[in-house]
Amino acid sequence: MKLVLLGPPGAGKGTQAVKLSEKLGIPTISTGEIIRNAIKNETPVGKIAKDTIERGELVSDELVLEIVKDRLKDDDCKDGYILDGFPRTLAQAEMMQSVENNIGVDFVINIDVSDDEIVSRLSGRRVCPSCGKTYHVVSLPSSCGDKCEACGEKLIVRKDDSPEVILNRLKVYHELTAPLTRFYDEQKILYTVKGAESLDAVTAQVMDIVGRQRR
Ligand SMILES: [Zn+2]
Repeated sequence: MKLVLLGPPGAGKGTQAVKLSEKLGIPTISTGEIIRNAIKNETPVGKIAKDTIERGELVSDELVLEIVKDRLKDDDCKDGYILDGFPRTLAQAEMMQSVENNIGVDFVINIDVSDDEIVSRLSGRRVCPSCGKTYHVVSLPSSCGDKCEACGEKLIVRKDDSPEVILNRLKVYHELTAPLTRFYDEQKILYTVKGAESLDAVTAQVMDIVGRQRR
């Protein structure tokens, strides 16, 4: 069972990955996390990644691929894996399926959430500048209105959560992901779930797809 999860920031991809890992008994390979671990453990590729980041550059597609390949050699990946955050681009997707890399993908689940919904989810976040506690105007409001429950400080919107910044991130995401979803759609391994529903409803849709694959 080799799965790729796609979805925009704020789609709940990380949460779904955790639930799927539990239900399927296979690990989630989150690119951000394994890069951090490779750096921490000072593996050969981790050292290169560290130098790259310290120079203020982006870790290349090739290097990310090497780090992912290293991680997939671990014993816990023998029955499959869930890739979260990789591939991010068409170039990465093509590279991983090349003959020399041969990283298999059985199917791809795309968590589809409209830009409007993402903006309303992320722009509703509020944070306490004093103690760091986070709230959401709809799903997790403070009982003290626009003030922090814990310390009484006035809550603020982080710059990253402003609608303009979110829309810009979404624009970049769509530009990178559209060729990727086309690529997987042509291979007939792309499945789209409606991510605007509740967490459990989204998990149910995903499990339904997984169940059909196993038959
Ligand atoms: Zn506070």
